[in-house]
Order: sequence, then C-alpha cells, then structure tokens
Amino acid sequence: MTKKAVVWIREDLRVENNPAISYASKNHEAVSALYIYNNKYFDKKREAQKWWLSKSLEFFKDSLKKFNISLEIVSGDEIDIFSKIKKNDDITIYWSKVYEPDVIAKGKKIRDIFIKNGINYKYFKGNILIEFQDVIKDDGTPFKVFTPFWKNAEQKYLNKVPSKIFKIKKLDKEFSHFKKTISPKEILPKKNWFKKFEKYWKPSESEAKKYLQELIKNRITDYGNTRDIPGVNGTSKLSPFLKFGQIHVETIWSKCDEVANKSKGYRKYVNELGWREFSHSLINNFPEMLKGNLRKNFDSFPWVENEKFLKKWKKGMTGYPIVDAGMRELYETGWMHNRVRMVVASFLVKHLRIHWMEGEKHFKNHLIDYNEASNVAQWQWVAGCGADAAPYFRIFNPILQGLKFDKDGIYTKKWVPELQNMPIKFLHKPWELESKYQEQIKIIIGKDYPEPIVVHEEARAAALKAFQSIKKKNNFY
Ligand SMILES: Cc1cc2nc3c(=O)[nH]c(=O)nc-3n(C[C@H](O)[C@H](O)[C@H](O)COP(=O)(O)OP(=O)(O)OC[C@H]3O[C@@H](n4cnc5c(N)ncnc54)[C@H](O)[C@@H]3O)c2cc1C
Repeated sequence: MTKKAVVWIREDLRVENNPAISYASKNHEAVSALYIYNNKYFDKKREAQKWWLSKSLEFFKDSLKKFNISLEIVSGDEIDIFSKIKKNDDITIYWSKVYEPDVIAKGKKIRDIFIKNGINYKYFKGNILIEFQDVIKDDGTPFKVFTPFWKNAEQKYLNKVPSKIFKIKKLDKEFSHFKKTISPKEILPKKNWFKKFEKYWKPSESEAKKYLQELIKNRITDYGNTRDIPGVNGTSKLSPFLKFGQIHVETIWSKCDEVANKSKGYRKYVNELGWREFSHSLINNFPEMLKGNLRKNFDSFPWVENEKFLKKWKKGMTGYPIVDAGMRELYETGWMHNRVRMVVASFLVKHLRIHWMEGEKHFKNHLIDYNEASNVAQWQWVAGCGADAAPYFRIFNPILQGLKFDKDGIYTKKWVPELQNMPIKFLHKPWELESKYQEQIKIIIGKDYPEPIVVHEEARAAALKAFQSIKKKNNFY
C-alpha cells in the first residue's frame, strides 16, 4: 500500500457517506482530493453549472480541511494530468463512478494509463441506488419501460441496502501533490447572469441536508398532491445537490424510509428517484439516444427550423404565460419546476415543432441541475421519441395547463410580473381580454406582453399532421 492517496472528485462533493474518501483516509497516511476542471465540458455548454461548481468547491474545500485533506483544483485534461503521475510518486488513486457513457469511456482510458505506469487505483459505486448493469430483464436485455424497471431495481436495492455509512478518518497532516492549481473563482462564468442565482441557492453539503430534512418534515406526506403545483414549494429541490453529489441518493432513500407514514406522497417521491435511476440505465444501455431519437421512426419527423420562435421561447416571450413563466424562472434561478419543464418542452416540440435537441441544449446550458441522463431521457419522453414516452399526439394545451396547475396565478405572476394586474380568468389567455379592459388595467397585449406566437388550435393541428406523416410510414404506438 502506498503512503499517499489522491481521491479524484467528480460528482461526489461531500464528506458524508463518501466511500472513496473514507476508504483512502483509513488506508493511507496522507490524502489529497483532486478536482480536474476541464473547460471543454463547460464553456458555452454548461454555463449555469460553472457557478454551482465554483461555489460547491469552495464549501467542499472547507469541509475537507477539518479532516486535514486538501482540495486541489487543477485545470486541464484528465488524461494529460494522470499521465504525469509516476510509480515513484507513491500514490494510489481513488474515485467514484459517474454513469455517463463518455465519462465511462474516458475512465477506461485512464485505467489503462495507470496499469501501464504501475499506479494503484480503486473505484467505488457512484451516486445511484443500483448499478445499471444489475437491472435487467430475465432474458438479459435492458428494460425500456419504467414500471417493470423500477419494480426490479427497487427489489434489488432492498435486497442489499448498504448497512454502513462511510466515515472519513481525520488525518495527521495535510498533503498536496499538484504544483499548478487554480482557485474555484476561476471557474465562474464570464457573464454576470449567474449573480442572481446567489439569491436562491447555497450549493453546500449542509444545505442539501437541510433540504432533505425539510422534505421529510414538511413535504413528503403531501408530495403526491403538491409536486405538480409550481406556485407551491412542494418538491425537494435536491436535484442540483444530487447532480454534484453533495448528497447521495442512498442518504435520501434511507431518510425517506424512516418516515413512518408511507403515504402516497412517500411512494410518489421514491418513484421519482426511480425515474432518475431509469434515465441512467437508458443512456448507458442505449447510448445512441444521446445523439438522436431512441425511436428511430422519429428520424423522418418534419421538424421546423425557426430561429425567431426559438429565440422567443428561450427568452420567455411566446405570449403563453405559463410557458414564459417557466423559461424566465430558468434564466433567473437556474432551475425550473418539473411540471413547467414538461409544459415548455412540449410547447417547443409540438407547438413550434422545433427539434427536441435544441431544447435539450438550452436546458443543458442553463440548468444548475443539468444531468445528461435525466435531461436527454426527459426531452425524448416529452417529444414522444424516447423510452416509455408520452405519445406525440398527446399535446399539452398551455392554457389548460396554466388553469389546472397554476389556477391562482401565483407562479405565473411571479415570473411574468407584467401580468400582475391581469384578472385570473384571463391570466393564461390574456389576448382574450377585450382591448378596452386591457387599457383599463394598463396591459396592452402586443405591447406590454406579447401576442401568442402561434394559435394553439392551429399549432396542434399542424403537429398532428406532421405526426401522421411519420405514422403512415411507420407502424407507430
Ligand atoms: C424536459 C425535462 C428536462 C429535465 N432535465 C433534467 C435534468 O437535466 N436534470 C435533472 O435532475 N432532472 C431533469 N428533469 C427531471 C425533473 O424535472 C427534475 O429532476 C426535478 O424538477 C428536480 O426538482 P426536485 O429536486 O425538486 O424534484 P423532486 O420532485 O423533489 O424529485 C426528487 C428527485 O427525483 C429525481 N427526479 C424527479 N423527477 C424526475 C424525472 N422526471 N426524471 C428523472 N429524475 C427525476 C430528481 O433527482 C429529483 O431531485 C427534466 C424534466 C424534463 C421534463
């Protein structure tokens, strides 16, 4: 065993229940944690997450100090950095898995380098309940439908719920290996729009624990009812913490399991964790879906290229208040409520018939909780071309969605403040208010708030026609 260890941190920025750091601390005299910042993965692709990452690393650095473990942030490519570690550096490398095909492929190359250079290494399970390879059908093939997948995965997890929490041992003194390190501040995006996020989020491990407690204490029982109402704080908002591993999904699971009242809300919540697992299983078993439709029949779908409409969608200026509220919430906070994610995504792919990949790209750059698996799987779910997807012909009516899920207008008025004085009856279809009343409340549609960029019924009919064109060619649904 070497005297020193380096734990390569990727999406596991926590000290509680971190098997890789825990193991290293118990088996080596000195441990350093390494974060490799490769801007190739972030620049103009995941700008919002640069903010979250930068702040998280600051908090994490402080947490590790208490164990005499230094956090070294190195900028560059993982292969170049690891190639420079030599056998006589007397270092073992540890890491936890990340379940994305490209990341796994790179990990394999790194392992080959370590083998070639005689470097000891060991890796651990990542932030998932069950390894995706373990959840397969009786015939050995992967699941494409959520319910049987989750039934199988949940049972497998229950059969081997980990019995121990991994603790870190405090070391005698700090050690650092890398000469050229950077400060977390150097990761911050150049544009200042992220500044607003500071009002809404504190990306630390202790904050994740607070959110979890809050979920267990106040939200989980009624989660089944409130999770769909964006004007109510009804969901856990743990997604960005989960993405960066400030909390492990097993920790969430076990806290939920302690809840005495296994209500419908509890079941629904745990089910959502199941969707996260399912998405990871999908992108790893069907990695081609990261580059295009999982259902190949969709390859001939007549998508529309319309830069003007795409821009209006991104800016929250479509003239459909619930859609615009969602897109503005995203820009302002880096997060969007799940119900509204479905509404805005449906609007883009069905009302505007713009390719789901445009939406996927926009979300990737703007979501602080961006997760390759959930984002791609959910965009394809909404578009109808994914696994166990919502059929394309089921088209959300943005007016009815607003009336149903934001009937008091709390959410819409918050993010579209120019509609503050709009009577609730017209809030989700403001263009129907007679112009004399528009003048009275000083909200002129077309001036103070946009006219709808498409007419719902016409857009719906066009979408169905487009779908018919591929349905005729292929035997669908
Ligand atoms: C078009 C679209 C894109 C999405 N992109 C992402 C993404 O990039 N990253 C991401 O984490 N989620 C994504 N989701 C799923 C979902 O919207 C978010 O996980 C959820 O809104 C996060 O808020 P929360 O933590 O309060 O969720 P809660 O309702 O509290 O759920 C708990 C956890 O379960 C998981 N979860 C919940 N819903 C889903 C779902 N439908 N699919 C997969 N996991 C789920 C998340 O990890 C979440 O943190 C997307 C959904 C849609 C419709």
